[in-house]
Amino acid sequence: MANYYHTVTQRVVGQASDRVRVRDFYAVSRPGGTVSAVQGQVLGDSMVLARRRLDEVLSLTRDSRRALRGGSDMDLSVDFLENLKSLFRVAGDASAATIRNTIETAYDSLSRVQHGLGTRDIQIVDSNPNRGGVASGYVRMAYREILRRRDAERQVSFGGRVHFRFALLRAGDESKVAHVIIHEAAHKFAGARDWCYLPSESGMVAMENDMRGIGVPSQGAWYDMTNIQALNNADSYAGFVMQMPARL
Ligand SMILES: [Zn+2]
Repeated sequence: MANYYHTVTQRVVGQASDRVRVRDFYAVSRPGGTVSAVQGQVLGDSMVLARRRLDEVLSLTRDSRRALRGGSDMDLSVDFLENLKSLFRVAGDASAATIRNTIETAYDSLSRVQHGLGTRDIQIVDSNPNRGGVASGYVRMAYREILRRRDAERQVSFGGRVHFRFALLRAGDESKVAHVIIHEAAHKFAGARDWCYLPSESGMVAMENDMRGIGVPSQGAWYDMTNIQALNNADSYAGFVMQMPARL
């Protein structure tokens, strides 16, 4: 095991992490732990899937944005529009301006997520059981960010690394893992907050345990979320990318 210190505390205590090269990024274990071959494999495959879906959906979004900007009458794909409206809470009678703004904002945020996730040598770190609770993933946030997290206008990224509970890395779960990766990347690279979570079919919840008690809304509140809030909601981006039907 390499002498890799993930945090300052680790260096002081002298308890190194296992840092494993997975494709073009790193998987980092808890102090004294290891990253198994299966965990590395599943994390790598999930990252490939997350990036591929992101590329596809960003390209669809770019086409729609171009069409709208050009005032073209091009038909936006029904799947694209339905997915956009449902994930970003666009009302059925929304104006063309609202739809255009939703596409522009989603495009900006997804571009940042794509750029961030594409960063070479990015680290994905196993969750700290004392911090993550039952969550599948989280990005640590500064206290000042917690205090301001209700400000949907804010676009400041989190400084922490993306964390994922490595114990959940099982073959066959790649799309669920990819969902959590995009959710966390939306926090880290696009400054998104947790206004609301999509109902989880998987039991994997990208919920940040250390934020509970500070008003994390219940899942039932999805339909109460506004368009502006949804455009700053991490799970809206994860759902938008992972639920979009693949191009024919
Ligand atoms: Zn979150």
